[in-house]
Amino acid sequence: MTVENVDRKTILVVEDEVVIAMDLQATLIDLGHAVPTIVTSGEMAVQVALELRPDLVLMDIHLSDAVDGIDAAAQITQALDIPVIYLTAYADEETLQRASLTTPFGYILKPFEARELRANIDIAFYKHGIEKNLRENRQWLLTVLNSISEGVAASDASGLIKFMNPVAEALTGWSQTEAIGRSPTEVFQFIDEFTRSLIENPLLKSLQDGNTIHLPENALLRTRLGHETPVSDSASPIRNERGLVEGSVMVVRDSTEQRRMEAQLEHNALHDALTQLPNRALFLNRLQQAIDRARRLPEFGFVVMLLDLDRFKVINDTLGHLLGDRLLMEIAPRLKSHLRTVDTVARFGGDEFAVLLEDITDVTTACYTAERIVDELKKPFLINNYELLISASIGIVQSSIPYENTTDLLRDADIAMYRAKEQGRGCYQVFDAVMHRQALALMQREQALTQAIAHDELRVHYQPIVSLATQNIASLEALVRWQKPGDGLIYPDQFIALAEEMGAIATIDQWVLRQACQQLRAWQHLGTGAWAMVDGRITRLPNSPSPSPTMAINVNLSSNHFTQKNLVDTFAEILRDTGLSGDDLKLEITESVFIENAKEAAAMLTQLKQLDVQICLDDFGTGYSSLSYLHQFPIDIVKIDRSFIQGMDIDSEKLEIVRAIIGLCHTLGMAVTAEGIETAQQHDILLDLGCEYGQGYFFARAIDGATITQSLNS
Ligand code: C2E
Ligand code: CA
Ligand code: CA
Repeated sequence: MTVENVDRKTILVVEDEVVIAMDLQATLIDLGHAVPTIVTSGEMAVQVALELRPDLVLMDIHLSDAVDGIDAAAQITQALDIPVIYLTAYADEETLQRASLTTPFGYILKPFEARELRANIDIAFYKHGIEKNLRENRQWLLTVLNSISEGVAASDASGLIKFMNPVAEALTGWSQTEAIGRSPTEVFQFIDEFTRSLIENPLLKSLQDGNTIHLPENALLRTRLGHETPVSDSASPIRNERGLVEGSVMVVRDSTEQRRMEAQLEHNALHDALTQLPNRALFLNRLQQAIDRARRLPEFGFVVMLLDLDRFKVINDTLGHLLGDRLLMEIAPRLKSHLRTVDTVARFGGDEFAVLLEDITDVTTACYTAERIVDELKKPFLINNYELLISASIGIVQSSIPYENTTDLLRDADIAMYRAKEQGRGCYQVFDAVMHRQALALMQREQALTQAIAHDELRVHYQPIVSLATQNIASLEALVRWQKPGDGLIYPDQFIALAEEMGAIATIDQWVLRQACQQLRAWQHLGTGAWAMVDGRITRLPNSPSPSPTMAINVNLSSNHFTQKNLVDTFAEILRDTGLSGDDLKLEITESVFIENAKEAAAMLTQLKQLDVQICLDDFGTGYSSLSYLHQFPIDIVKIDRSFIQGMDIDSEKLEIVRAIIGLCHTLGMAVTAEGIETAQQHDILLDLGCEYGQGYFFARAIDGATITQSLNS
């Protein structure tokens, strides 16, 4: 055996028989170990061991000293983690018993052989190494388990608690010492937050099933003192190398904070951040439940109130959003003060609120509540030293109308609310059968108009605009008609307003524009030469001056159009597609454009002018009749509304108004068209006043394109 093969260890030999000690030392050195000294007494042995810190102690049990081998070994192993092997020639039961208490790593009977000595030492080192390893591993695991923020508990194969870390102790109120050996059902009591029933213990269940078990979402852990903590948890079986379940381990987490955050998130998703009232989503949910309930239970009734503040926009715009927000915040408690806790009051956004009154079958109760709310909101609000006075309009819908969905119900509440607004500020209105019928009729008309557009039922008729000086046709105004199958021709007064409300007007106007452009282009191809009215018919003059004056078309544009961003591009495209130039086209707009979309409109008109398109101000005199903006917008022609023209031949006041308008327009460099000329006398007066153009039944009514083409050819 070569010395190099041996892991060299330092061994302390304690032996009071010097011969044996020397022999041992020699043998050990032979085996490749270091034996720096030999000790002969127990007392010395302890002292030297502490100084020398050997790797192993060979200890004679029987020392002649006061401190015998067992005592010395006990003291040494208490202070140091060193394996001890006893040497003994004989031993009585009692000595062996005492010796075993010091957990020695071996006994060697004297006399012994080198081989035996070596085997014992090797085994002792091996065993000691493993034990040390195990101890360290366990320590490491314990440190981990004790320092993680989750509670950990483990049970043995019989399902009794074997381990609990400090977090588990804190969560349950049980100390590990008290808990060990008890059933998990006693230490960990999980209950369902809502049903309050006991939940099957996961530690036991995973042990039983051999699977990982999770607690249900709303579990509470009841502590030893009866306190309840929301927890989340999972438990898994512990298997040995052969796959047999030897116990189970459970991880419990205090989820108070997590549930608080979840609850907060859920609250935020369903509430208005400003007023903390339920939002539209939550309201719709509750409303749908009420609708479903009312359908199931005939005795259950509810009422919905839709509330809109009057003039809130003015307050917001003049005093600022911060103040507007403060006002909205103060409205919430006022609304609540007149409602029961079972009622839902929600903010739909902006200045719109909704109230759901449940278990109400009697509309007078609802009206009474609405009245009180209206009165409450009329009381002044004191915000930032401003005394603000507002009022609200309320639309009321009852469940006696059998609704199936929230959309229909809220649409009707909206209709009632607008009716209330029409009645003046601070009113409420109950949606009734009449409104229901009207709403239904409106819906049907909307559908019909949508179909008209889709089924190509719209037509364009053209009414001449005549130059009063030359009697030539300067332009043709395109006027839309609806050729409704079975109903004949429907005039725009019957459907333009509806189309505007539906948001379909842009489609119609652009369709009319394209039609009119195509038609004019077609007429241009038929030949040049001025057009005129001859014997009530449109005719092309044979020997018109050269170059012949161009005839344009006028197309009406709803003011809703000016909210469309790509308006100018669309128009340029239509002109390009149909091959017309800008000066073939005049667009008619009304004063409302300047009021509703002044900024956008001015910009768009300027761009349209760059295409050489002329702008006519239609129906002048009927709207705001404010002359102040006439020069602020690029207007070429003003059309005086026919209400001033009709009767101007007998009403001198009207005549003076028309004279003044013409004078003003000329001063501003604009031309004038008189609408609705029906008599020769009106025509003559206008010619005298220097009015450039005229339009009216005196010249011609609006005629369809095919008829015009025919009369041109004949
Ligand atoms: P408007 O632009 O003022 O068009 C003139 C209206 O007066 C036309 O009615 C025309 O038929 C009528 N009219 C012409 N001369 C006389 C007359 O001597 N006496 C009387 N009593 N009436 C006369 P219409 O075609 O029913 O159009 C009504 C309104 O509908 C138009 O008024 C215009 O505002 C609108 N409209 C027509 N077509 C369109 C369109 O394509 N788009 C848009 N947005 N509106 C259109
Ligand atoms: Ca017009
Ligand atoms: Ca007009």
